[in-house]
Amino acid sequence: TPKAAANIGVVGLAVMGSNLARNLASREGNTVAVFNRSPERTRALLSEHPEAEFVGTETVQAFADALQRPRTAIIMVQAGAATDAVIDQLTEVFEPGDIIVDGGNALFTDTIRREAAVRETGIHFVGAGISGGEEGALNGPSIMPGGSAESYETLGPILASIAARADDGEPCVTHIGTDGAGHFVKMVHNGIEYADMQLIAESYDLLRHVGGYEPAQIADIFTEWDSGELESYLIQITAEVLRQVDAETGKPLVDVILDAAGMKGTGTWTVQQALALGVPATGIAEAVFARGVSGRADQRAAVRATIDARPQPADVGDTFVDDVRRALYSSKVIAYAQGFDTILAGGAEYGWALDPGAIAKIWREGCIIRARFLNTIAEAYSRNRRLESLIADEFFASAVADGAPAWRRVVSVAALSGVPAPAFSSSLSYYDSIGAERLPAALVQGQRDFFGAHTYRRNDRDGIFHTLWSGDR
Ligand code: NAP
Repeated sequence: TPKAAANIGVVGLAVMGSNLARNLASREGNTVAVFNRSPERTRALLSEHPEAEFVGTETVQAFADALQRPRTAIIMVQAGAATDAVIDQLTEVFEPGDIIVDGGNALFTDTIRREAAVRETGIHFVGAGISGGEEGALNGPSIMPGGSAESYETLGPILASIAARADDGEPCVTHIGTDGAGHFVKMVHNGIEYADMQLIAESYDLLRHVGGYEPAQIADIFTEWDSGELESYLIQITAEVLRQVDAETGKPLVDVILDAAGMKGTGTWTVQQALALGVPATGIAEAVFARGVSGRADQRAAVRATIDARPQPADVGDTFVDDVRRALYSSKVIAYAQGFDTILAGGAEYGWALDPGAIAKIWREGCIIRARFLNTIAEAYSRNRRLESLIADEFFASAVADGAPAWRRVVSVAALSGVPAPAFSSSLSYYDSIGAERLPAALVQGQRDFFGAHTYRRNDRDGIFHTLWSGDR
């Protein structure tokens, strides 16, 4: 009978939802009910993919009727008002014990609000971050589900069946924490992604405009780096982007793409959260700001008209390519250290018992930042679950210290030649600050006490102090 034939449903059949539905349908034992606001999309999916044996439905009621109980439905619609609308429709026809999963890119505070509201009805609401783009949705994404532990008992095996798998066979999904924890961690994942991309872009810019390499040569350099500790999806696709030649002009495609980077918000959210939590996520912030700078076309033109912005020749020596590789690796470690600091601070603030090692593990495959490197991070957190900072781990501490001379050479060459390297240089400044014996913060405290009697503490005895500055007289 066509009634209650499906064990899982998908609402929202644009590119992400239809790919996720096909992924679910391809797994042994799954029958997938599908629903979309505009029925044409549902019909198109059914006719293009008969092999999936979808149960197509054209009303929310028919969708609910097609699902076995407890019902489990994954929503993949536009984040924001569309998600609220679909949740409202589903809660009308679902029953206590059923599970609604939002797989879109929701802001985690929306997820916290929605979870609390849906819980009132006895229905479970799970905000699940899903990374990996269209390809991941189809072949195996990295999945970051929040929500109750109880709902994860039903949902976990289904998500594990469609998630990417790491080399050791572990599925790239784990119960992140309650309510908005999954979307919070997905948000920081995207923030780290911004930093990772910016650092690779700065490496390219320095190799091109200081090192004098052409895009195709830089592609080869990146391909070589991909066989070492930098091995990652983002390095691989960067090499491919750099190799691409524009069919019309015959130029490297990168030279005809407008240099204004777009963004959809998750990087900005990460930085806003980091600021609110007091976490200096400087690498991620620089990456977001760098996109912002790139988009300010009028301002760039106005300033460019006043200066000679051509890169100044700089003496780079014959270790330059390897120096850039080391600078990239060290800066990347900083970005991840700051990303995990943000995650752990969020956990403390919102009451989630987050497991940083488990999070690193589910990012090893499926998601955009997938990389060999994440195994090393997981190992660091398994050595010490309460690590104060990733760069306090013995392995990363010595890796970054070993790379530091090269990193300093690259940042100085960038400054001398006038090629911008905001993420490289700010990451280095962070490293030098966080590891400094004494910071000039002592002087800032003196200034604050001078003009505002804000008081200070001393390093030689307990207590709160105020000085009668000459200005007080
Ligand atoms: P999308 O363009 O974000 O959304 C289109 C879908 O939303 C369509 O199914 C549309 O239905 C539905 N929709 C819009 N407003 C609606 C409303 N008021 N009521 C009901 N349905 C409504 O689709 P997408 O690119 O596949 O992304 C889906 C979600 O996944 C988003 O939250 C996105 O941020 C997230 N995501 C995307 C990617 C990616 O690489 N694209 C990666 C990770 C996560 P109609 O057909 O009726 O218009």
